[in-house]
Amino acid sequence: MAKIFCIANQKGGVGKTTTTVNLAAGLAKAGQRVLLVDLDPQGNATMGSGIDKRQLELSVYDVLLESASIAEAVVKAEKCGYDVLSANRELAGAEVELVQLEHRDQRLKTALAAVDGDYDFVLIDCPPSLSMLTLNGLCSAHGVIVPMQCEYFALEGLTDLVNTIKQVHANLNKDLKIIGLLRVMFDPRVTLQMQVSDQLKAHFGDKVFDTVIPRNVRLAEAPSYGLPGVVFDPSAKGSQAYVEFACEMVKRAPTL
Ligand code: ADP
Ligand code: MG
Repeated sequence: MAKIFCIANQKGGVGKTTTTVNLAAGLAKAGQRVLLVDLDPQGNATMGSGIDKRQLELSVYDVLLESASIAEAVVKAEKCGYDVLSANRELAGAEVELVQLEHRDQRLKTALAAVDGDYDFVLIDCPPSLSMLTLNGLCSAHGVIVPMQCEYFALEGLTDLVNTIKQVHANLNKDLKIIGLLRVMFDPRVTLQMQVSDQLKAHFGDKVFDTVIPRNVRLAEAPSYGLPGVVFDPSAKGSQAYVEFACEMVKRAPTL
């Protein structure tokens, strides 16, 4: 049975997509069968996996509207070692079209059930909002991975997400929980970041992942080559950290 995780945070630019593609590549390196689901109409995870979002025959949009199955719509990210259910701007329309449909929040869950045996991990890259798309992700998942920067308002920003997860857990998906908070773009020389990191650990305990992802320019350069940092430059500090994070996830997975 596949472990299904959303990478979510309603803030933009916090490292969701970077975490999704690099964790996917790290898990693939560790021999895991991985499906990456791009749920963001910006299609950054799609492009960052080397798939041209302007030339998709089928995408997650078709899956949500039930005009294609995942098996039909999935594309292999050859150099990355994982499969991608890709996205482009068309997906923004799904938000509106879904409103009129039945079981609109369960579409992705139903589609994923058909490929459950084909993957060890399914990673869902969510858009920076708590929209119908994100809700489809949260209804499908066993848990949420929250990438966050250790900044002054980090804890406040978490409140909305934690409340949404609680509501989805209570009403729609009994499985859902926070798997962990991942500290990203971390710079230990910045005193404030160390302080916020300590606060996070005090507040959330073992819900804070052991692995810390440093700020590393190679991770930011990789998407322009259509590759996750882990594949683009495996020796970079940031790539090594994501490989370590993948190992932490493999270790934790049986208990999740
Ligand atoms: P989100 O998906 O949450 O909007 P992204 O993953 O796209 O965030 O990251 C936002 C920006 O920060 C991107 O330009 C990305 O390349 C950069 N970035 C993400 N993580 C790191 C990191 N660890 N070090 C340096 N740059 C990073
Ligand atoms: Mg993104």
